[in-house]
Amino acid sequence: MIFDFDMIKNHYEKFTEKVDKARKVIGKPMNLAEKILYSHLFETQELREFKRGIDYVDFKPDRVAMQDATAQMALLQFMSAGRPKVAVPSTVHCDHLIIAKKGAVDDLSFAKDLNKEVYDFLSSVSNKYGIGFWKPGSGIIHQVILENYAFPGGMMIGTDSHTVNAGGLGMVAIGVGGADAVDVMSGMAWELRFPKFIGVKLTGKMNGWTSAKDVILKVAGILTVKGGTGAIVEYFGDGAKTISCTGKGTICNMGAEIGATTSIFGYDQKMYDYLVATGRKEIADMAENLKSYLTGDDEVYDEPEKYFDQLIEINLSELEPHINGPFTPDLATPISKFSEAVRENGWPEKLEVGLIGSCTNSSYEDISRAASIAKQAIEKKLKVKSEFTITPGSEQVRYTIERDGFIDLFEKIGGVVLANACGPCIGQWARHGAEKQEKNSIITSFNRNFAKRNDGNPNTHGFVASPEIVTAMTIAGRLTFNPLTDTLINEDGNEVFLDEPKGFELPPNGFAVEDMGYQEPAKDGSSIEVIVNPESERLQILEPFEPWDGNDFIGLKLLIKVKGKCTTDHISMAGPWLKFRGHLDNISNNLLTGAVNYFNNKTNEVKNQLTGEYGPVPLTQRDYKAKGIGTIVVGDENYGEGSSREHAAMEPRHLGVKVILVKSFARIHETNLKKQGMLALTFDNKEDYDKIQEDDTIDVIGLKEMSPGKPLTIILHHKDGTSEEIKANHSYNESQIEWFRAGSALNIIRRQFNK
Ligand code: SF4
Repeated sequence: MIFDFDMIKNHYEKFTEKVDKARKVIGKPMNLAEKILYSHLFETQELREFKRGIDYVDFKPDRVAMQDATAQMALLQFMSAGRPKVAVPSTVHCDHLIIAKKGAVDDLSFAKDLNKEVYDFLSSVSNKYGIGFWKPGSGIIHQVILENYAFPGGMMIGTDSHTVNAGGLGMVAIGVGGADAVDVMSGMAWELRFPKFIGVKLTGKMNGWTSAKDVILKVAGILTVKGGTGAIVEYFGDGAKTISCTGKGTICNMGAEIGATTSIFGYDQKMYDYLVATGRKEIADMAENLKSYLTGDDEVYDEPEKYFDQLIEINLSELEPHINGPFTPDLATPISKFSEAVRENGWPEKLEVGLIGSCTNSSYEDISRAASIAKQAIEKKLKVKSEFTITPGSEQVRYTIERDGFIDLFEKIGGVVLANACGPCIGQWARHGAEKQEKNSIITSFNRNFAKRNDGNPNTHGFVASPEIVTAMTIAGRLTFNPLTDTLINEDGNEVFLDEPKGFELPPNGFAVEDMGYQEPAKDGSSIEVIVNPESERLQILEPFEPWDGNDFIGLKLLIKVKGKCTTDHISMAGPWLKFRGHLDNISNNLLTGAVNYFNNKTNEVKNQLTGEYGPVPLTQRDYKAKGIGTIVVGDENYGEGSSREHAAMEPRHLGVKVILVKSFARIHETNLKKQGMLALTFDNKEDYDKIQEDDTIDVIGLKEMSPGKPLTIILHHKDGTSEEIKANHSYNESQIEWFRAGSALNIIRRQFNK
């Protein structure tokens, strides 16, 4: 089955003309990412040369993907936009809410019970609005996208940071917040600052134990977790053509760990083969006909230093396997130096658990290479010394590797196959003993390894490597083992050596699957009822936010003056709150509970100016709201950095906070605040932050005349009866001011539709 064939055909029919036109306008050769961006401009966006890293540009992506944790709020918002159907092909994937505990069958059945109301909601809302629904057990969003939806030269957004995985099939694929997904699904423009471009030239060919994962582990070591910020990373060179399509996906996937907007490879034979193997020969043939357009121009790759903002070169023939971590994905150590690093740093040498799979590394190639190590272990009389889990990326991969005997091999050496879901990668791992918080080591083929990410234990040292290295380490049971040089002692007491892994890029007998777990949406969803239990604790239909009343904000109370770092985690914590992601009122009970109060250095303890008592932030705010009193939150630098979750903007809006006034904002959070109808302001003079006192009552003047670039006036009324006037800036453009006036961007969408 080929999804959205007409949309792709239509895109390809116009692609060459759009690229030629753009090349003429900018007057120079283009890299692939530029070709895709310039060919996806929104109808009203003027075609001109955009300044890299500066200009904001309106785009029209081809499709949207959402995972179950983020889809809830995105779709609740979409429902209130008043559209009868999504404007672009969209899908929902149930992968994040499955807890790994016993194994695939038990865990999946437990998840279906535990999350029934969320799954029923997502299934019915998808059915109604024309959205493809992938049931729990069908696979991890990014693997399913690669297998079914990604296509060279396309552009997509997804409500998950590893959406970038689809760059492995030549797509510009970008992770966003739910409000952005709503814009695109509603047929509106999607805005992005035009990126910079980092070129990675790959030469040579990988061999032995080295695999695609090692390319990105190496790049992460070079660029660090921030080095890709605001940039698209484009891989090219002869070496790139030797890497399988799914290997390219792995490299792009983990580009999220260097902060890159996305990563991409140009179309080549490997992509053709993968499209054919996954049942999309017609698309492969269309792409083949456009192949010079689906890669960067020759001039760019011939003289990359002239056209990219930064250039990195890696010789694949010399690339060693790497192990990155602990606690950060950019601490890269080549395997030859790793045992030394373990000893020098005092990292726990004993390996407790090895985990392979996840959206990053669960292709047929990954699994077959890891299975070749398992096979040798059986033949050489070895068993795993650490616990070993395998997470297939999709039901298609799981079914095929079972048919081909790989699951059997893993189980024979002591492996446990988990559900086709995120599980331990997102902390959905009921790991026995984690609560004891003991210092220990695990190694995964996942992408992120921040403290607490996998099992909630801050003392778990998480290392990241390729699936084949993880498998070998798990057999050895210790981190100081180097499979390239070291031997192991088998059950008979003999010294044995693991030969280098061998695998298949694609299954020699083709992919197979009985039930992909896909639900096609209704052609006409108008009579379908979306299932939300009004008593639900996890889901709540959204009421539109009230429009601005046309007056200045007078008499706002200071809710909290936040001290220091305040990420979206401090504003709306994750962990146990994940289950309330679809219930705005309930999740609002975590509002700013992680933020530090400037006046007492405590979290979640602020003064209620009406009673003089100190209490939790959400309760204090609810008291102001009940009495009809608006409030203001004051913050420090880079307020709202971190994840793009819109809950961090919706919660204050829902509870009656009117203004967020800070020294500076993280861009996505600032946009999210604007979208939800909040006033997001920055101090004109950052030192004015010091003027804010705990008992201040605050006015914001000038809202009626609010216009782009024009500062607003803030009057601080102190408890001692004195007042001070300060200036605050904003970055609202004309249409964003309309969002504020209308109460939210969504209210505008709804209004347009109701015309
Ligand atoms: S497997 Fe991990 S990285 Fe991939 S989508 Fe799931 S949680 Fe995110």
